[in-house]
Amino acid sequence: MAKKQFKAESKRLLEMMINSIYSQREVFLRELLSNASDAIDKLYYKALTDENLTFNKEDYYIKVSADKEKRQLIITDTGIGMTQEELETNLGVIAKSGSLAFKKENESKDGHDIIGQFGVGFYAAFMVADVVTVTSKAIGSNEAYRWESKGADGYTITPCEKEKVGTEIILTIKENTEEEDYGQFLEEYRLKEIIKKYSDFIRYPIKMDVTES
Ligand code: ADP
Ligand code: MG
Repeated sequence: MAKKQFKAESKRLLEMMINSIYSQREVFLRELLSNASDAIDKLYYKALTDENLTFNKEDYYIKVSADKEKRQLIITDTGIGMTQEELETNLGVIAKSGSLAFKKENESKDGHDIIGQFGVGFYAAFMVADVVTVTSKAIGSNEAYRWESKGADGYTITPCEKEKVGTEIILTIKENTEEEDYGQFLEEYRLKEIIKKYSDFIRYPIKMDVTES
C-alpha cells in the first residue's frame, strides 16, 4: 500500500508531541495503557449483548515487554482489536479523541504543562519512538493488519499474520541524545514506576517482561 498522509490537524499534534519536553514524555505509556484497557472494555460490552461471545475476566490482560537490544517497547492487549478500516480511521486522523479540542483551547498557552495534564492519545507514542508499529486483529475477523508510521510523514497499512484477537503496539525507542535519555523507557524499574503512577486508569492486570540483552 502506498504511504498515506496524515490530516493537517493530526500533523500539527504530531509535531507538538515530537517536540514536547523531556519530563512529559512518560505520559505516552499512560495513553497506550488506557487505550488497551478501553479495548478490553469494548470486548466486555460486546460480550454482554452477543451470545456467541463469552468474557472471562482472567483471560484479559495487558502486557508490557521491553527488548533492550532491539530497543523495542511492546504493549500488547487482548482487547477488541481493529479492522483495516478501523486502523485507518482511528489512527490516521485525530477525530473522536479529546486531543483536538484541548489543542484549540490551549493554543495560546505554552506547551509546557499541557501535555502532562490532558489525554493526548495514541500519537503520544511519537514522543519516545522513531517508529510505531500497530498489529491488530479485530474480533470476528480472520485477517490481521499492520499500521506503521515514522511520524509526520505518513503511515502504511499492510496485511500480516496475528494469531490472537487484540492489538500489539511496538515502539522502536529513539536513540539517546545528550539531553534526553530515551533508554529509560526500556528499563524495568522505570516502566514499573510509570505504570504505578498511572495505573488508576487501568482496569485489567498488567504483566511485564523485560529482556536485558
Ligand atoms: P481516544 O482514546 O481519546 O479515542 P486515542 O488517540 O488514544 O484517542 O486513540 C484513538 C482511537 O484508536 C481509539 O478511540 C480507538 O478506537 C483506537 N485504538 C487505539 N488503541 C487501541 C487498542 N489498543 N485497541 C483497539 N483500538 C485502539
Ligand atoms: Mg486514548
